[in-house]
Amino acid sequence: MNANYLQTPVTYLKGVGPNRAEILQAELGITTYQGLINLFPNRYIDKTRYYKISELQRGNADVQLIGRIVHLKTVEQKKGTRLVALFKDDTGEMELVWFRGQKWIRENIKLNVPYVIFGRTNWFSGKFSMPHPEMELLSVHEKGIKVALQPIYPSTEKLSARGITNRVISKLIQQLFLETKGQFKETLSPTILNELKLMSKTEAMFNIHFPRDLKHLSRAQFRLKFEELFYIQLQLISKKLIRKQKIKGFPFEEVGSLFNGFYKDHLPFQLTGAQKKVIKEIRADLGSKAQMNRLLQGDVGSGKTVVALMTILLALDNGFQACLVAPTEILANQHYKGICDLLGDLDVKVALLTGSVKKAQRKVIHEQLEDGSLHLLIGTHAVLEDKVKFKNLGLAIVDEQHRFGVAQRSKLWHKNETPPHILVMTATPIPRTLAMSLYGDLDISVIDELPPGRKAVKTVHRFDKNRLKVFQFLREEIKKGRQVYIVYPLIQESEALDYKDLMDGYESISRDFPLPEYQISIVHGKMKAQDKDYEMERFVKGETQIMVATTVIEVGVNIPNASVMIIESSERFGLSQLHQLRGRVGRGAEQSYCILMTGQKLSADAKTRLETMTRTSDGFEIAEVDLKLRGPGDLMGTQQSGILNLKIADIVKDNDILKTARYYAIKILNKDPKLEAEENRAIQFAYAQLMKHKNIWNYIS
Ligand code: ADP
Ligand code: MG
Repeated sequence: MNANYLQTPVTYLKGVGPNRAEILQAELGITTYQGLINLFPNRYIDKTRYYKISELQRGNADVQLIGRIVHLKTVEQKKGTRLVALFKDDTGEMELVWFRGQKWIRENIKLNVPYVIFGRTNWFSGKFSMPHPEMELLSVHEKGIKVALQPIYPSTEKLSARGITNRVISKLIQQLFLETKGQFKETLSPTILNELKLMSKTEAMFNIHFPRDLKHLSRAQFRLKFEELFYIQLQLISKKLIRKQKIKGFPFEEVGSLFNGFYKDHLPFQLTGAQKKVIKEIRADLGSKAQMNRLLQGDVGSGKTVVALMTILLALDNGFQACLVAPTEILANQHYKGICDLLGDLDVKVALLTGSVKKAQRKVIHEQLEDGSLHLLIGTHAVLEDKVKFKNLGLAIVDEQHRFGVAQRSKLWHKNETPPHILVMTATPIPRTLAMSLYGDLDISVIDELPPGRKAVKTVHRFDKNRLKVFQFLREEIKKGRQVYIVYPLIQESEALDYKDLMDGYESISRDFPLPEYQISIVHGKMKAQDKDYEMERFVKGETQIMVATTVIEVGVNIPNASVMIIESSERFGLSQLHQLRGRVGRGAEQSYCILMTGQKLSADAKTRLETMTRTSDGFEIAEVDLKLRGPGDLMGTQQSGILNLKIADIVKDNDILKTARYYAIKILNKDPKLEAEENRAIQFAYAQLMKHKNIWNYIS
């Protein structure tokens, strides 16, 4: 079938009127034949299996049984009635229940005649029941065509309420196969099909909707998953190739006096092997004449700042300016201070630009940036504003990337005619699998080693009822001169409530740790920036021993003397957030502690999170668990990317297919970047469609 045919609006399909078309679009985003044909089943039900009532188990999904209805009765309930049938086979009995359409059932159902019933069972006060079963007389069932595997399509409450049941969707798709004769244009090359022994497109589309058997189904799934991941990778990798070929970067050929001077005289420690490796990778990029677009991943405390600074010095050595952007004012301040300290007397002019910089000072900064006398600008989003113009920005570094949107990143690209080199740093470890899909167009460097001498943070889980003991421990640590964080959750939906939790907590801590012996800082999102900074500052200077805060302290803050972190209601935090928070301690020479407080009742997921936190401090391992628990959609930064709206592949489970897809995408683009070879015609065509419709599944056929 030609591609245009599948662009036919779904209203033209027999069985779809304006009403159904409207709801298909609203609920499933389906507007065309193509959309419908690419609605892949979520799961399949084995219709070859007939259960006995005695075999039913709680939590069974859909089951098929043979038996007789021996009795029907109408039961009064609070609102209206329900119809209940007693259904028996030779092993036991159960109830069938109808809330809707009772009259029809009562008039048409035959008692004491074998039926095949199908549906989802409930377990209710010691008995199994099945609401609204699909039913068919056994005699009819035996004559009918049997599908071994019945597809179950994605659905929504509204769809079923409007009568678009699974059966209706199935029928529509059958109709569509009739009209299109089930022929689909191949979208992969003969080489790929041969080497991976893949099903053809036509065969795969048939078997995904009407599987002949399990073997055909799994081959169809494999082929379609591969195809989906392949085109994502093709897109990412070709973007990267284009960037490397077309987008010239400023060549930083010089390794000059600043870089060398810093390395020789100012570096306060030996670089770790991982830091050296990463700096080497960055230097190779900067010397290559192509624009650098690199993601630097390194767990909290792994020493990204010094890598950033040395990259900045390379830019300066080559006569360019640089900027470093952080997501919060606190972090920007800290970077500014840290970097000024590291630079010492080196001849570098640095300025800080945040929302609270006064207008007059701002003006000076703007001028100095434009005349080139300012070398390095550190700041918040304020740096991205259009008013901020550089004479020659050669390098932009973004810290804690996940707080920034793609749009903001692209603002940096456009600060010059030639885009600056870009280094994005993140402490949120992204599992490699996900990184490949999310940031496939970035090069990735990883600092996978902590500076020597770090003591692992001792992490324990304590229940609220043991709070007194925990507080006693706090007093002992404070007596030794240490500082303590106490963190409360702040989850947006219930902001008011969380805020109350925080204030209640603050009050009770003030009672347990009274003035003047104990000084307490408090920081939360509702405070003015100045007040926040003031409180933060007191803690940084050691004037307060306890910092009560919401997750505003989550990223980046570095206070080596703070060695205890208490996380209240820790069952409410996500894993990556817990990990980030814990990263605030363990930065000094002292043994540090992280205490995860919870109530008694914990969900299974919460238990897994707590167990993971107490077992390991490896950020990548934690990220993998997080990914498995939450799925990629919830991980930071993925929502905005859009490319993870996968229809059939699963980025976690189909990791191997992803790798294969990536391998082929790289191989093909390296040999034939424009996809001009005869061999790649099908791919070229499908890819052009994809680019036109901006949706992986809008290209096929
Ligand atoms: P992050 O990667 O979380 O941004 P930082 O750059 O803030 O980490 O570094 C954390 C701490 O480790 C800082 O106090 C820094 O001075 C120190 N540090 C960084 N690299 C090394 C190293 N190679 N050896 C010893 N200490 C280091
Ligand atoms: Mg940092």
